[in-house]
Amino acid sequence: MRILTICAEYAPLAKVGGLADVTAGLSGWLARRGHEVVVVMPCYGEMRERGLLADAHAVLGPRPIPGEPGASYTVYRMAGSDRDGAPQVFLVDAPARFAGGVYATGDGEALRFLLLSRAALELAASAGFRPDILHCHDWHAAAAAIMLKGASRDERVFRQTYTALTIHNIGYQGVFDIDVLRRAGEAGLRELVAEEGPGAGRVNFLRAGILHADVLSTVSPTHAREIQTAQYGMGLDPLLRQRRHRLAGILNGVDYAHWDPATDPLLPARYSVVDLAGKRDCRAALAAEAGLRLEEGLPVVGMVTRLAQQKGIDILVHALPGLLAERNFACAFLGTGEPGYVSALRGLAARFPGRVAFIEAHDERLAHLVYAGSDLFLVPSLYEPCGLTQMYAMRYGTVPVVRRTGGLADTVRHFDPASGSGTGSVFLDADVGGLDWALRTALDWHAVPGQWTCLVANGMREDWSWERQGPQYEQLFARLANGGGASAIS
Ligand code: ADP
Repeated sequence: MRILTICAEYAPLAKVGGLADVTAGLSGWLARRGHEVVVVMPCYGEMRERGLLADAHAVLGPRPIPGEPGASYTVYRMAGSDRDGAPQVFLVDAPARFAGGVYATGDGEALRFLLLSRAALELAASAGFRPDILHCHDWHAAAAAIMLKGASRDERVFRQTYTALTIHNIGYQGVFDIDVLRRAGEAGLRELVAEEGPGAGRVNFLRAGILHADVLSTVSPTHAREIQTAQYGMGLDPLLRQRRHRLAGILNGVDYAHWDPATDPLLPARYSVVDLAGKRDCRAALAAEAGLRLEEGLPVVGMVTRLAQQKGIDILVHALPGLLAERNFACAFLGTGEPGYVSALRGLAARFPGRVAFIEAHDERLAHLVYAGSDLFLVPSLYEPCGLTQMYAMRYGTVPVVRRTGGLADTVRHFDPASGSGTGSVFLDADVGGLDWALRTALDWHAVPGQWTCLVANGMREDWSWERQGPQYEQLFARLANGGGASAIS
């Protein structure tokens, strides 16, 4: 199949969260399977500054940016992305739109991603690339599904193109005042405006994508059910129920070429399930970098996260002081995000010097060190469409303590000491009591060495590779293309 993928993040070129790992991992797997995968993403200012365009070839443009007189965009093909079996990555360079980092604020966001969708379709049309599937990731790419239903449909290259929208995070919908369409030179895209419901009269990219894409998917089976409920649907649940026969839940995969402690070049020492000695060195290195006082055998509780409400940081900062006063363990937290959470975590670290470390950074190497150097890993999310960090933690021999929601519910099984089965500690209630119980339970398991070894090994042996998850996308796309877009998928 020929697959045109549009996304805001793609690892390692531009990464804020899991979206980047997934667009890159899935595209790589599909390309290795022999599909022709074309990825179109922005060239953010910081990518330009890193010199990413230096060896790239211009393939389209300069063309005028709609709504921005005098400004133009150019599409470049990334150097080295035309190797056999690799996705072809194209960067939309438009300094007037993509200055700075991955995400902007306010209306600038809408202007950015309308241009991204428009440029991706223009690129396909001008190159004669006839996609079978247009794969849109999150609200940032949803407008392309609408554009394809409109005038672009008449382009010969899109006659046989069907659209798939993957919802990675329903909490970000792309909501703007209607005036933004005129400013973006896209006043004709009226389908982006919500006609009814709470946001009626405003632009809502994700809502429009849900209404217009040929199929929808989200990133775990549990979350596919959750988003059809008022509790998790963020106002879009009525629409998702209406289109539930078009909605699939496919768990994200892990790219173990990048996430395996046996080969990870970012770690100070390597290890595997049959020889864990290197994990002790990683633990010592983490303690030294984070400034933790470590006694032999003291468990380290890690976390790597965006600091956003979704991630359950409120619960965490309220649960930890009581537990830290009673039990002996240390914490290493890595994250960036909302100032309120930053100061709450700083406060916790100041209150427990040498026992709680908070590193405010977005740093790939440190993230790998936290996965490897910790014994337990916290993911107390209020909602979690899939979650990758718990899967990385398991592979690195670090036992996840997670809330039972979304992909966390689908990937972590509560350990049963009697039978020795299970991979982590799972709690239901999104409150202090829930997390307190789950962390205490896991600390008790840690105190029984034979039991702990078994639990660690169970997690390390789990397989969440793209080889396991990817075929579900392949089947979804093949059914869509072969069935002329008409078949129900669930
Ligand atoms: P989300 O996409 O909601 O942020 P996921 O669990 O799906 O959550 O993915 C998070 C990804 O972002 C993981 O690859 C994780 O290692 C990475 N990440 C999050 N925060 C940081 C950070 N401060 N430094 C480095 N990597 C981070």
